[in-house]
Amino acid sequence: MKNIKLTTPFNTLNDYFYSKVNTTKLSNPKLISVNKSLAKELGFSDDDINSEDFINMINGTYLPNGGQYYANAYAGHQFGYFVPQLGDGRAINLGKLNNYNLQLKGAGSTPYSRNGDGRAVLRSSIREYLLSEAMQGLGIPTTRALGIINSTSTAYREITEPCSIVLRASTSWIRFGSFEYAYIAKDNIKQLTNLANFVIDESYYELKNIPNKYEEMYFKIVDKTIDLMVHWQSIGFMHGVMNTDNMSIEGLTIDYGPYAFMEEFSKDYICNHSDTEGRYSFSNQPFIAQWNLSVLAKVLSPIANEKLMNSYNDNFIGKFKDKYYKKIALKLGFIDFTSNDIDFILELFDIMENSSIDYTAFFYFLSSARYDEIISNATYKDEITSWLKLYKIRVSTQNLSMNNRLKNMKAINPKYILKNYILQEIIEQCENNDFTMLNDFLQIAQNPYAEYKEYEKYAMPTPKEKTGYICSCSS
Ligand code: AMP
Ligand code: MG
Repeated sequence: MKNIKLTTPFNTLNDYFYSKVNTTKLSNPKLISVNKSLAKELGFSDDDINSEDFINMINGTYLPNGGQYYANAYAGHQFGYFVPQLGDGRAINLGKLNNYNLQLKGAGSTPYSRNGDGRAVLRSSIREYLLSEAMQGLGIPTTRALGIINSTSTAYREITEPCSIVLRASTSWIRFGSFEYAYIAKDNIKQLTNLANFVIDESYYELKNIPNKYEEMYFKIVDKTIDLMVHWQSIGFMHGVMNTDNMSIEGLTIDYGPYAFMEEFSKDYICNHSDTEGRYSFSNQPFIAQWNLSVLAKVLSPIANEKLMNSYNDNFIGKFKDKYYKKIALKLGFIDFTSNDIDFILELFDIMENSSIDYTAFFYFLSSARYDEIISNATYKDEITSWLKLYKIRVSTQNLSMNNRLKNMKAINPKYILKNYILQEIIEQCENNDFTMLNDFLQIAQNPYAEYKEYEKYAMPTPKEKTGYICSCSS
């Protein structure tokens, strides 16, 4: 690991935003999976990956050259209520390698741990490890994961559970809540300016020398957040905890907790069992993103024009809808989409909901012209049968052969989505010290459009008894 050299650009931030910390190691760490493609991208050799140093790096006992352990402070609105002091309560940063800031999740407590133990249990670590790579595989902006260790250390959640650490990597770890934290500083203009300049240097370098750069930075964050919502809504991803501290200023999917993918389509589905009001339900996600952006505009207002920012954000839903329907049209194989198709799309969603149709499997079957399977999996057959008849007429009017249409559709409709029941099977296997599925599904996650004969059943509609699996929020 001698060639791995970290840099520490974070130290251009005022120390208001971070604390230097120490890690607390886990006992008997064992590397259970490594993301070889990211490792290669970051410059780790095969020897590096197989070395003790690599495991020790994830366990927080080996710091590559040039690194520094530190935790970031941030604030945030949790379920709509402002919490002034959050921060990396169980994440410890190491420094930057190429474009990625490396971070250990679960390597012990920090000054921001509040009542938490600074640990992450195996179950939630596997969920984060696999999902971040699945999102990457789907082309959805996300933080990444380089490797995962398990251990004989334990933490108490609802029961005693094994502890784990994931080495996460992200082009940015700055959250909307980081700006909320700057806003509440006594010298907030200084802190906001410092943080905004840091964000421009790290994420929006093209704005560095332009006038109104803070407003422009905000506009870019809005645009990236719109794109993220288009991705989430079209793939059927539910984050579960869209607090402002879990919103990335680069529009990345960040902090994987009680998330879920849509199974039987239900537009107001709530995947987080602590979310009793449905604040973060599937259909609310774009509206919450816009609300979170309004908080960001407010806290940037000491250094940027609030009116301009708000009027930009006012167009969020309009822009979102335009892009969203275009994306759904592509999933359906329409290359000549017009707004006349919108009612037809909305009708499909109503039918999916009434007939308990599996969202991912529907698009997968449609991309393979397996119409009979769509019908046989629907609780009521008539409505979807009529819809499919109209669908076939609609696509036959396009200037595109069926084969080419199906080819286009297969390239954007994944065969495999890591639904909660699949993750649960992987977790149970890992808890019994078998990491086969974990590593197989890392590969599937990285290319969810390919064929994996032995895992065919996971591309089918979720078995009825396994739908709606809700995982525990305490992780
Ligand atoms: P989350 O909703 O998982 O993004 O976490 C919200 C806040 O709680 C963040 O500041 C986390 O760092 C912190 N947190 C969550 N779990 C723990 C834990 N086990 N120990 C310390 N802090 C935690
Ligand atoms: Mg978080």
